[in-house]
Amino acid sequence: MERIIKNGVVYCPLNGINGEKMDISIKDGKIVESVSNDAEVFDASGQIVMPGAVEVHTHIAGAKVNVGRMLRPEDSKKDAEGTIESTHCRAGSGFSVPSTNMTGYRYAQMGYTTAMEAAMPPLLARHTHEELQATPILDHAAFPLFGNNWFVMDYLGEGDIESCAAYASWLLKATKGFAIKIVNPCGTEAWGWGGNVHGIHDTAPHFKVTPAEMIKGLAEVNEKLRLPHSIHLHCNDLGHPGNYETTIESFEVPKGIKVNPATGSRDTIVHGTHVQYHSYAGTSWRDFESAADKVADYVNKNDHITIDIGQVTLDETTTMTADGPMEYDLHSLNGLKWANCDVEMETGSGVVPFIYSAKAPVPAVQWAIGMELSLLVKDTAKICITTDSPNAGPFTRYPRIFAWLMSNQYREDMLENKLHKWAQKRSSIATIDRELSFYEIAQATRGTPAKVLGLSDFKGHLGAGADADVAVYNMNPATIDPSADYMAIEKGFQKASMVFKDGELAVKDGEVINPELKGKTFWADTQVEQNPYNAVLKEVERQFIKYYSIGFDNYPVEDEYILKPTPINGVML
Ligand SMILES: [Zn+2]
Repeated sequence: MERIIKNGVVYCPLNGINGEKMDISIKDGKIVESVSNDAEVFDASGQIVMPGAVEVHTHIAGAKVNVGRMLRPEDSKKDAEGTIESTHCRAGSGFSVPSTNMTGYRYAQMGYTTAMEAAMPPLLARHTHEELQATPILDHAAFPLFGNNWFVMDYLGEGDIESCAAYASWLLKATKGFAIKIVNPCGTEAWGWGGNVHGIHDTAPHFKVTPAEMIKGLAEVNEKLRLPHSIHLHCNDLGHPGNYETTIESFEVPKGIKVNPATGSRDTIVHGTHVQYHSYAGTSWRDFESAADKVADYVNKNDHITIDIGQVTLDETTTMTADGPMEYDLHSLNGLKWANCDVEMETGSGVVPFIYSAKAPVPAVQWAIGMELSLLVKDTAKICITTDSPNAGPFTRYPRIFAWLMSNQYREDMLENKLHKWAQKRSSIATIDRELSFYEIAQATRGTPAKVLGLSDFKGHLGAGADADVAVYNMNPATIDPSADYMAIEKGFQKASMVFKDGELAVKDGEVINPELKGKTFWADTQVEQNPYNAVLKEVERQFIKYYSIGFDNYPVEDEYILKPTPINGVML
């Protein structure tokens, strides 16, 4: 099937295309150079055309997401929709934690065609994949949690990178996981004993390993396995005043390790996630202030790192993370309900509702810190825009964030009329007048995430050979002034006029018209030498009998669980 999207104004940073009037040709689900005259024509005159957006870090599937849904039935009242007969869209609900169908629809409506579930407890991989298969339209992958895993802590405590790499290779395959996710390394394990670690040099209780050794060791493992994505790091001390020093120290740890992906064009060694939560100065909530300038300065000066933001959207939302001790701190602070879970041998998690009130001092500063990071990091090739959905706010607020970043006037209006004065006093946001362009928005939501994930051969761009994931927005760059018409920007990005997924029209005039489309599942399929792989596997089996409450054979996610399996090959040890 041939299609052509004609006369759109194209933004495709990975190919250096900045607002050129072009046609985009599609054949058999891929972008091609040209098509025949029989191709079906879609008119995009006076509209913006971008690659389908790539979500680098979100929480949309798995155990803690489901706990969030159950813990907060009140959340479902804020966004609910019945079955739509004309399009066969299913009913769904949930504002901060939508049900699976709704998640796929809402992302697609905004032009997102790929999303990464950023925290998968390996033991609960099966459930995570079940939910991902039930989330329509989006290509997806999930990141298994490595930062508090007993096997990893043992291997790295002994400095045994080879065995750790063999174990990681097995775990990625067994869980159909895509990348090495590290959350509060050693801290969640310490939480199993009611504690936490602080900084990166505390030793985990009952293990001989520190967060710094975990970060470095896993970065080495990552490059040994030649994985598509870099390590994906949620630093220690999330949400603590004064934590920016821990953040910069953590980013410094893997510096110098040789970048070595087998596929894609990644040239970075670490991705720091939701860095807004990790850019705090001060010693308590009383003298809390932004340290975004220091963290942004670090990112500007170093080329081994990319970050995503974790922008606070000023909503009532649901926080959820494998950082168990942090959720307890949060619950102690806001007094709202709390769910907590330990995942044997591997990780833990917590879920707590949170109200980011614009009128409250701390959320106002948190909002400012996210904005500062996005605007002070000079090169949008180093940032991805995220809300760490739903933690700092639901992903459905992305269009509002784009509008904030594209309009100084919008931010001034927020600072003058909506936000607590701390936003101005405790950050530099009021002094920043930079406004991101359409090109930079496209980079921070398409090009950069695709590249850092190692998927840029076929995601995040509109060159020949790419998947035909295309978003068309009814905004004309020739006539719209984002600085002044910021509400039109927000509206324009909220509901795309057309979204193509693998060449099929998924969204038309802002509504999902093809809800049965299924996404691909990416995972890292690495090959390692028989030795030490076999020895490691034998040891894992022995430990399973000793510690796990489920059998070794019941652990791996079977191929039948995956509707569109798309393994990404790594190579040898
Ligand atoms: Zn997250």
